[in-house]
Amino acid sequence: MARAPGARRLEGLGVTIFSEMTRLAIAHGAINLGQGFPDFPGPDLVKEAAVLAIRADLNQYAPSHGLPRLRQAVARAFEQSYGHPVDPEVEVTVTTGATEGLHAALLALVDPGDEVIVFEPFYDAYLAQIRFAGGVPRPVTLWPPDWRFDPNELAAAFGPRTRAVIVNTPHNPTGKVFTHDELALVAALCQEYDVVAITDEVYDRILYDDAVHIPLATLPGMWERTITLNSTGKTFSMTGWKVGWAIASAPLTRAIRATHQFITFATATPFQEAMAVALEQAAESGYYAELAAAYAERRAVLHRALEATGLSVLPCRGSYFLLADASGLGFPDDVSLCRYLVTEVGVAAIPPSAFYADPARAPVLARFCFAKRLETLQAAAERLAGFAGMNASAPSARSVG
Ligand code: GLN
Repeated sequence: MARAPGARRLEGLGVTIFSEMTRLAIAHGAINLGQGFPDFPGPDLVKEAAVLAIRADLNQYAPSHGLPRLRQAVARAFEQSYGHPVDPEVEVTVTTGATEGLHAALLALVDPGDEVIVFEPFYDAYLAQIRFAGGVPRPVTLWPPDWRFDPNELAAAFGPRTRAVIVNTPHNPTGKVFTHDELALVAALCQEYDVVAITDEVYDRILYDDAVHIPLATLPGMWERTITLNSTGKTFSMTGWKVGWAIASAPLTRAIRATHQFITFATATPFQEAMAVALEQAAESGYYAELAAAYAERRAVLHRALEATGLSVLPCRGSYFLLADASGLGFPDDVSLCRYLVTEVGVAAIPPSAFYADPARAPVLARFCFAKRLETLQAAAERLAGFAGMNASAPSARSVG
C-alpha cells in the first residue's frame, strides 16, 4: 500500500489562518485587516540602501551568522535601548526573520519529549515549531480583558521536563506588554528549574501610552539563559524582507548557529546590508518615536470605528492589533464571526482561536490589524458601520459561512 504523501508531523497543520484569511479577503473584495502586514511603504532610506547594496554586487552568501555590519548594528541598538552590552562576534546570529530564529532556537534546545511552556493565546507558528522539534507544548492561559496569567498556573507548568518557555512581548494577538513583575516571576521560575527563555520581541518598537518594553534577558540572572528574537519586519514595515536575529549568550549562540547553518545557511545579503543602515540611523533620526506616534493615530482610528459598531474593544498597549469582543452577538465562535465579517461586511479579521491549542477555549473575539494607511482604515470604518446596521436588523444573516 502506498504511504501517505506527508510525514506524521503534518497532521493537524492545515494552512495558516493568515494565508486563509488573505485568500478569502481577495476572493470577496474585502479590506484586509487580517494578516498582519503594513499596506504602506517602508522608509526610503532602507530601500535606497538595498538598491546600493545590489548595485555594489553584494550578491553572494553572507557569513552564515550574518554580516558583521548588521550584527554590530543589532548589538549597538540593543545596548542603547535596553542598557545591556551585546558582543556582536559571539552573541548575535542573523536569521531569516524571527520565524527562522525560533525554529533554529527550538531545534538547538529541545530534545524529543521536552516540554516548552507557551502563553496562550500564542502566535500560531509556536505550536507547529515546538512539535517539529519533538517538543511537547505546555500552554499557560492569559485571561481577557487584560491578559494576565495566574502565577500558580505558571508555576505548576514548570517541572523536570521543562526545557524552555516562550514569552512574546509586546504580544500578538492581545497587545499585552508583559510587566516587570510578570517577567520577574518567569525569570525566577527559569532559574529555579534551569529553563531557557526564548523571547519574541518583534513588536518592541510599537508601544502605546506609558507602556515600556523590558527584554527578559536584561533581568538579573537571565542573560545566560535567554534567547532574544527580533526582526526588522514590523519595525521598518518590510515584513517581506525577512531579516531577523537572535541575541543570546555565547554558549546559546553557538547552539543556535549550529542549527541555523543547516536550516538556511544565511539570509539575503543586500537586505542585511540595508537593515544595518536602517538600524544605524533609526534611534538618532527619531524614527522609532515617529513609528510609535503614527501607530497611535492608526490605533485610535480603528478603535473608534470598532466601537461605533457596538463592539467593545480590548486594551492594546503594544503591537499593531486590536481585539474586538463579539460575545453576545449570537455567533457560535470566532471563526463564524470572521467568516461573516469577510463575506458580508467586507472586512477581513483573524479569529484568535488559531492561537489556541484547543480552539474551543477561545473567547469570541476578532483580531483587526491597523498597520494600514489611514485611507484603508477609513474605508474599513465605513464598511464596519454597515456591520452595526446588520447587527441591529438582520441577526439571522449570521448563519452565513
Ligand atoms: N505575524 C503576522 C500576523 O500575526 C502574519 C505572519 C504570517 O502571515 N505568517 O498576522
